[in-house]
Amino acid sequence: RIPSPFVGARPQIRVCVRKRPLSKKELLRNEKDIATVNGPRTILINEPKTKVDLTKYVEQHAFVFDDVFDYEANNEEVYKRTALPLVEYIFRGGKATCFAYGQTGSGKTYTMLDDKQGLYVLAARDIFNLLQRPEFNHLAAYIGFYEIYQGQLYDLLNQRKKLFAREDGKKNVIIAGLQEYSIDNVDALMQVFDYGNTVRSTGTTGANADSSRSHAILQIVLKHKKNRKKFHGKLSFIDLAGSERGADRGDADKQTRHALYYVEMEGAEINKSLLALKECIRALDQDKRHTPFRQSKLTQACCNINVLKDSFVGNSRTCMIATISPNISNSEHTLNTLRYADRVK
Ligand code: ADP
Ligand code: MG
Repeated sequence: RIPSPFVGARPQIRVCVRKRPLSKKELLRNEKDIATVNGPRTILINEPKTKVDLTKYVEQHAFVFDDVFDYEANNEEVYKRTALPLVEYIFRGGKATCFAYGQTGSGKTYTMLDDKQGLYVLAARDIFNLLQRPEFNHLAAYIGFYEIYQGQLYDLLNQRKKLFAREDGKKNVIIAGLQEYSIDNVDALMQVFDYGNTVRSTGTTGANADSSRSHAILQIVLKHKKNRKKFHGKLSFIDLAGSERGADRGDADKQTRHALYYVEMEGAEINKSLLALKECIRALDQDKRHTPFRQSKLTQACCNINVLKDSFVGNSRTCMIATISPNISNSEHTLNTLRYADRVK
């Protein structure tokens, strides 16, 4: 049995960093790796002096987190130290969320929602196994998958139907009408997930959300078999929109003024939701009475999933994985991501 890393002064939140390997392209361009994992919790970033001369470094920045994963760590290792304790936790009746935050191309989807070996698959595998045990035989797993695009919620398992968040009498945020499937094996989960992903990438209106501009949320809810209204626990995996600013988002987006306008609008919305997320986590950590979760659909949804508010009664846990690109030309984004993560921490 692995000891839970959610111990110590702040058991509710863990902030980790994952560095991906240099890509083939980056290697071909002979790009330098500016990120060095230094011990189990520290990452060092060499900040280049100018954008032109990338051989000179001005400063070395050191960041300390709850856990740091080097480029060699595979998803199984990352899973053991991030989501596995959350799996155990939801069987004890808790609500948990695992986020990936970072620049587009830094490994968020690879970590969270890769179709073959993302953390969600590894967690589901263990969840389905645990459900076979006699002590959990009265429970079943329900899967929901939706995205948040420009502040609006869409059900990826129900033809991208618009969803609305509302509060119930107990001040829990409910996502009304979210389609949930009862699933008990990994193959079925992957089928449902693949279907949701096609919906995500093509949309129905043509004005679809590029995956880097929407937040995707896959949730696994444990409920009582005999009474589906009876909730037991919930684990959500969130693949956040790219954390870079709109104007930096890929060349394709810059082709027309029109496109650029939309990218800017989205950028503002994404920045707003990521800021709201940070504020919520910080408020949670400082034990503030009021969590500003209504500021965006993302944090509202997080309240539903993670029930940030419920953290006050002590049954919610969050793990954030900040993903970074190690190559020198992304140094600014990498520093921004680590600073954001540092503030959450
Ligand atoms: P994001 O979702 O943050 O935009 P992706 O998850 O799509 O980024 O990753 C970008 C590319 O880098 C993909 O080709 C992915 O397979 C690769 N990649 C990301 N993280 C890793 C990793 N830890 N090990 C190996 N390849 C990775
Ligand atoms: Mg992605």
